Amino acid sequence: MEGNIAGVIPAYSLFLYIMEYTLEQFADIQILRYYVPGFESLSLRQKKLVYYLSEAALQGRDILFDQNGRYNLLIRRMLEAVYLYYEGDRSTPDFQAMTLYLKRVWFSNGIHHHYGYGKFSPGFSPTFFKKALQEIDASLLSLSPGKSIEALCDEIFPVIFNPEVMSKRVNQDAGADLVLTSAANYYRGVTQQEVEAFYGAMKEPDDPTPPSYGLNSRLVKENGILKEKIWKVGGLYGAAIEKIVYWLEQAMQVADTPGQQEVIARLIAFYRTGDLRAFDAYTILWVQDLDAHVDFVNGFTETYGDALGMKASWESIVDFKDLEATRRTEIISSHAQWFEDNAPVDALFKKEKVKGISAKVITAAMLAGDLYPATAIGINLPNADWIRTKYGSKSVTISNITEAYNRAARSNGFNEEFMYGQEELTLAAKYGDLTGILHTDLHECVGHGSGKLLPGVDTDSLKAYGATVEEARADLFGLYYLGDAKLVEWGLLPDADAYKAEYYIYLMNGLLTQLVRIEPGNHVEEAHMRNRQLIARWVYEKGMPERVVELVRREGKTYIKVNNYKKLRTLFGTLLAEVQRIKSTGDYAAACGLVEHYGVKVDASLHAEVLARYRKLNLAPYKGFVNPVYEAVRDAQGNIMDVKVSYQESFTEQMLRYSRDYATLPAEND
Ligand code: ZN
Repeated sequence: MEGNIAGVIPAYSLFLYIMEYTLEQFADIQILRYYVPGFESLSLRQKKLVYYLSEAALQGRDILFDQNGRYNLLIRRMLEAVYLYYEGDRSTPDFQAMTLYLKRVWFSNGIHHHYGYGKFSPGFSPTFFKKALQEIDASLLSLSPGKSIEALCDEIFPVIFNPEVMSKRVNQDAGADLVLTSAANYYRGVTQQEVEAFYGAMKEPDDPTPPSYGLNSRLVKENGILKEKIWKVGGLYGAAIEKIVYWLEQAMQVADTPGQQEVIARLIAFYRTGDLRAFDAYTILWVQDLDAHVDFVNGFTETYGDALGMKASWESIVDFKDLEATRRTEIISSHAQWFEDNAPVDALFKKEKVKGISAKVITAAMLAGDLYPATAIGINLPNADWIRTKYGSKSVTISNITEAYNRAARSNGFNEEFMYGQEELTLAAKYGDLTGILHTDLHECVGHGSGKLLPGVDTDSLKAYGATVEEARADLFGLYYLGDAKLVEWGLLPDADAYKAEYYIYLMNGLLTQLVRIEPGNHVEEAHMRNRQLIARWVYEKGMPERVVELVRREGKTYIKVNNYKKLRTLFGTLLAEVQRIKSTGDYAAACGLVEHYGVKVDASLHAEVLARYRKLNLAPYKGFVNPVYEAVRDAQGNIMDVKVSYQESFTEQMLRYSRDYATLPAEND
């Protein structure tokens, strides 16, 4: 119905109306909010499941702080105590700088940058901080008995203020002792050589099912003897893990399927024993559990935080299937043979029988540990090679996180700066999000799986150019079909103009704006970026006689203008035919020619122009999220009658609440 007036606006549109995606910006960080569409439609049992798993997720927060550095929890608590209880002037540069530093510590789960690993330099003085600590009630710091503020400052200040002390969380400089020079809290008093010898001795060369040795422990030397302190109930981080287990036990009662119940039981068994074979048993069930609507990751998972790549940081995500998006990929996948048969490539290179992949798309309901506040937009687990080979892996993309990134980007001035005019801006605003997602779906569900090698052609014949050619093939497959009327017929696109949005955005990115990710003086190295430039440059050059795509200069700035979208589609098809021929025949010389000529070199003056325009927008390079808040509505007997989700909390409110309600560990964990 049209013409709604205030009183009769349906609840959902009112909800859309007030949705805000960008919350605040500080240092090199932008804080966003994500929403959880579909939560209200879950059954009460599933809402409880999400709630219990979310509690299990939040209980692990302190583990990650301690893993990222042995003084992180103590420093966080010192900063929070001053932030909350300082009675002096809060408008001074010192207090403001301390607040900024605290926000960065919250964001990075420690005193080092979450991505670059370098230690933050505090903009406030040690004198200010010491005085502030002395003025607040000392009991707020829960110091060990007999320890004075004076002694605390002597111990901790070098860690905060001296740039030489614990300067990098993860050091990967060749030649250094990676263990001794990394501040991460995975080892104490041992050298890299000792670590390698210790775990080297555990490995059995012929074991077809090797456990992930070292995954869940800190390796220490005590009285000259190396030993593992296992992270488990009754072991290191036991207090936090007990709480995680408690909430997992609640979740088990309301699991989605008997299979999932067993998955959770195995995870609890692993947390209780710390036995890595139990971890593998859990993982094998988890990866095969595809029926449950609500799913989760909870545990010691990724090893990027350990310079030796053995110790896993703690993380959690709670999610459920995005049925709408999954329906979309199922439609694409069910027409895989139609795509193959109608592709504009030589019949010799087509598969007689092709099977599409239905991409799994999920909605995140809670992010925690190493997935919070900064997070990934996709997850591919488990990491153990032998389990992946034997049982497969779960590979998912997270739709509501992608949505939040897209929405946040709408209002940041980027499109206004780089798009040619109002027509392009309107196209992008109207269709850009949808066509971007659909292009990715086509790329993943049918693009990579299309085509075949001629008999006798080595899969490796394109060598270093193989990855770029393969990405170009999948991208071109998607681009070509985005402009096909069938997509409108199948209900995947709203009308025959929609595809133009992705065509424009793709060319603008490949010819112009992806250059913002390259340092001045460098060329394009990364395979996906090379592929995008290759495609954009090629169609630009081949379409020149008919001015299909133009580079227009206006007031010292360069813009992309597409004059003929239909012809552009034909050019994508022509290049797809050539790229498929190169792949199918293993034509190394042609691959080299194509990639080197179109995909690698950067025009220095255009590059400088793009960087200058981008810098003026003052965008934060890193983004992270505030979680929704779940509240259990209980009856007089304490039974949960409903779970409400809300989205009002600010970044600071959320961090302070987590520090108060989920403080599971002491400041020092030895
Ligand atoms: Zn790909």
